[in-house]
Amino acid sequence: MRCIACNKNLNDFESTRKSAVTGEYLDLCNTCYHAVEDDLPAKERDDLRSEEEVFEDDTDVTEIVDPL
Ligand SMILES: [Zn+2]
Repeated sequence: MRCIACNKNLNDFESTRKSAVTGEYLDLCNTCYHAVEDDLPAKERDDLRSEEEVFEDDTDVTEIVDPL
């Protein structure tokens, strides 16, 4: 199964993501899904969520130094 937007191979978590509205598989990778998730609520298999999903939190801003 490949992402219908960017053709990347989907893992189990990505390939089992279904639209919460239609119940159909979305077939989007995490990257492409994140771009549309506000408009496209989905049911996700949290039991299939992998480590791969967690690393995307690379916007950690805890090291911002207070200018004062
Ligand atoms: Zn994609």
